Amino acid sequence: MYCPKCLNNSLCMKSKGTIFILINSHKTTTSQFLYNLAREEEEDIFEHLEEKFEEFFHWYKGFENKEKISKVEVISSDFSCENKCILPPGSRFSAIGIIIDKKQFINLLTKLTKKHNLRLSLESLE
Ligand SMILES: [Zn+2]
Repeated sequence: MYCPKCLNNSLCMKSKGTIFILINSHKTTTSQFLYNLAREEEEDIFEHLEEKFEEFFHWYKGFENKEKISKVEVISSDFSCENKCILPPGSRFSAIGIIIDKKQFINLLTKLTKKHNLRLSLESLE
C-alpha cells in the first residue's frame, strides 16, 4: 500500500491492532474488533468480520428508513510505513485487500444482505 507521506509502496498493517467497521457511515459501539496476526490466521479474522457484519445487519434491519447498503468501510489506524514516516494523526486505511480478501468479502456482503433482506448496491468499498 502507498504511504501518504513518502508515496512509496511501503505502508504495512501492524501485526496487531483494531479494525473498525462502518456501513453507510454508521457504526455501533461493537462494530470493531481486535486482530493479532501472530496468533490468528486470515480465516480467523474473516470469521470475526462475519460475526460483526451479522450483528450490524441484524441491528440495521430494524431501522425505519433503511437505505440500501452502498458504502462499506473496514478500516484501521494500525498501519506503519517501512520508511518510518510519521503518519498524519487520525489516518485510517482499508484492511480490504490486505488481510481481508476482497472477493471473499463481497461474497459475504451479498450473502448477509440477502439474509437480512437489505438491498446492496456498493458504491464505495474501503
Ligand atoms: Zn512513508
